[in-house]
Amino acid sequence: MAYDIPAMIPQPAAVQEKIVLNIAATCKGTRSLGPGLRAVVWVQGCPFHCPGCIAPDWIPIHPSHLYSPEQLVDDLLGDPHIQGLTFSGGEPMLQAVGLAFLSRLARKKRNVSIICFTGFQKHTLETTPPGPGVDQLLDQVDVLIDGPYIARLNDNHGLRGSKNQKIHYLTNRLSAYDFEGNPRRAEVQIQDGQAMMIGVPPVGLEKAFHQAIDQANHLQREMLRHER
Ligand code: SF4
Repeated sequence: MAYDIPAMIPQPAAVQEKIVLNIAATCKGTRSLGPGLRAVVWVQGCPFHCPGCIAPDWIPIHPSHLYSPEQLVDDLLGDPHIQGLTFSGGEPMLQAVGLAFLSRLARKKRNVSIICFTGFQKHTLETTPPGPGVDQLLDQVDVLIDGPYIARLNDNHGLRGSKNQKIHYLTNRLSAYDFEGNPRRAEVQIQDGQAMMIGVPPVGLEKAFHQAIDQANHLQREMLRHER
């Protein structure tokens, strides 16, 4: 499957002027996206448009929640039990400068491990990086999970969406963790009154989750209608 990789990654104006991260959402503690208790940063904006993407709202490249890395780091590490950061999206490599800076800041405060998902292939990142800072971010990452999501190759295994995606251990820090073989996990967390599913969901769970949300919304509307 061919993907057009933009020669110049479009960035919101604020991002061009100083280091500002354009964030779709964060999670300050999950055990569903890698070993141990991890904080997660999902960036806004992705050039890939994979059919079946679990996060279609985070594909458009437009400003969402803008933070400096300094603002974000204390929030992510607020729980003293956080052992690692996971970057996903959206496409983290579109914001490599900011995420590399965030990683360095975090590691000054705590010796966290770093996992990064990307739709780009590692070889592309190394030979024709799509924007600035990619080498800096790769220098910080312990495990890179690369390649676009291809729904027909979703084999329901491990911490990657489809079997074309490869697990690259860039350091040996997390080498004891079997990213391909461990069963998938997903958590539902409530943030600002919204239910959010976190993790690489086992096949069928995402559909069941959305059906449950639709059913809950329907029941709530019915209850409100009867109260009037
Ligand atoms: S690379 Fe990931 S975030 Fe981007 S469209 Fe594909 S599945 Fe969605």
